[in-house]
Amino acid sequence: MSALLEVSGVSKSFDGFKAIDNLSFSIGEPELRAIIGPNGAGKTTFMDLVTGKTRPDSGTIRYGSASQDLTKMSEARIARAGIGRKFQKPTVFDDQTVTENLTMALKSPRSPFTVLMRRPSLVERAAEVADQVGLRGDMGRRAGTLSHGQKQWLEIGMLLAQEPRLLLVDEPAAGMTAAERERTTAMLVEAAKSRAVVVIEHDMEFVRRLKCRVSVLHEGRVLAEGSLDHVCADPRVIDVYLGR
Ligand code: ADP
Repeated sequence: MSALLEVSGVSKSFDGFKAIDNLSFSIGEPELRAIIGPNGAGKTTFMDLVTGKTRPDSGTIRYGSASQDLTKMSEARIARAGIGRKFQKPTVFDDQTVTENLTMALKSPRSPFTVLMRRPSLVERAAEVADQVGLRGDMGRRAGTLSHGQKQWLEIGMLLAQEPRLLLVDEPAAGMTAAERERTTAMLVEAAKSRAVVVIEHDMEFVRRLKCRVSVLHEGRVLAEGSLDHVCADPRVIDVYLGR
């Protein structure tokens, strides 16, 4: 596993408040990583920095084999370089079918589909992606009629259609039923076999099922890192996060 993302000495303040404080952090490829930590720890700001939504005050964020510095790239270029982000709320097109949503994602300029030599039709490729996210039997349904969990899966599918190298996912389990959470776990574990997937999550049971390395963020720094059991036994983590 080699490093795909290397964050070094990154700081970001808002009105004098250090949201990210000399953060250093790296993600391998492939890898599944969970980021946990109390509210205000800097988890969202971290994702904003990686995707170029926010610029750091200092530090570098190197990405990919050419070690491009993401802090010098536009949001659009970062997305085209293979970094996808899923926000908490699904942003699918309700009046379009699952197939239409997926083909739209496949046709986007971010997607490598249009330049690939292999030529399954768009709909065949959409069906493959629908399979990956458990929506094969729902391809003709309008997205507006899907359950909350299915909408989240559709959005994950739309991101996977674009074949990201790094996928950032914000609280995928929020508002899901236990059965939906279980399927989401399997989906993310599978997706992380061939790419880096970083998940921000508060639901500890969900994190446990991901069976991955966990980074605990606190006051804009990594407070602890390792297996969930390892970080949960760390007195500093208990103090700032678990003991509350
Ligand atoms: P988390 O996602 O871990 O809850 P955030 O990254 O959202 O934490 O926030 C970290 C800190 O930075 C918080 O104190 C938050 O109020 C502050 N912050 C984040 N974004 C902004 C912003 N655009 N303007 C001012 N303060 C911000």
